[in-house]
Amino acid sequence: MVEDLAQDSFNIPDDLLDSIQHNIENIIKTFDVPEENKMEVIKQINYMYSRTKYLSLTDELTELPNRRCFDNDFNKEFLRAQRYKNNLTLVMFDIDHFKQVNDSYGHQCGDYILKQVSKAALQTFRQTDTVYRVGGEEFMVILTETDINQCIIPLERFRKTIETLYLNFNNQNINITVSIGACQYKSEMTDKDKFVEETDKALYKAKNTGRNKTVLSTDL
Ligand code: GH3
Ligand code: MG
Ligand code: MG
Repeated sequence: MVEDLAQDSFNIPDDLLDSIQHNIENIIKTFDVPEENKMEVIKQINYMYSRTKYLSLTDELTELPNRRCFDNDFNKEFLRAQRYKNNLTLVMFDIDHFKQVNDSYGHQCGDYILKQVSKAALQTFRQTDTVYRVGGEEFMVILTETDINQCIIPLERFRKTIETLYLNFNNQNINITVSIGACQYKSEMTDKDKFVEETDKALYKAKNTGRNKTVLSTDL
């Protein structure tokens, strides 16, 4: 029961949370206490609120937006693509044989690699594209205003960047690669899970046909 409640409150839409926050500020302003005290309380509540919001949407290790943030953003972009018919491409990438890296060089080295790959992704994609860490060594990228042909160049650039990325941990050089799957939104996709599923299939094919490659849903 308590768990149910906690789950429900976690699912309050962000817009509603922002408006509750705004109302709390207005209520505090009506308190019969010195102005500077009110301002201090409002400042502290605002800080706690924005910090909590940031933490709830951010992956601690890489500081990339997390799965929850992806779900929120993807929902909005999917609805936008449905309504306005703009191009939207979804990308999923996964580090190849990452378990072996952990096993050979240790978990700390694995963490270092996750951070470096995240940095490289942030530097490679456009600022209007968002990269998310959605699982252990799994990432999603939402490419807005991009069709399946336009995504090939940035995805291949990223794949090659990772292939040649300089990684040095405890004086050991490490090479890694990523497999990438991409899919463009189509109007037949009435359900956003179908869109994710198609993208996942493309990644699965990249894994099963040799890894360190980009597969488009049009190649399935
Ligand atoms: P594949 O090429 O098929 O993707 O193989 P893989 O070894 O990358 O995939 P698998 O799913 O077998 O292993 C994923 C590994 O990722 C296992 C787990 O130890 C590691 N991992 C997940 N999250 C973290 C993390 O936060 N830090 C570190 N260091 N390792 C992580
Ligand atoms: Mg992997
Ligand atoms: Mg994986």
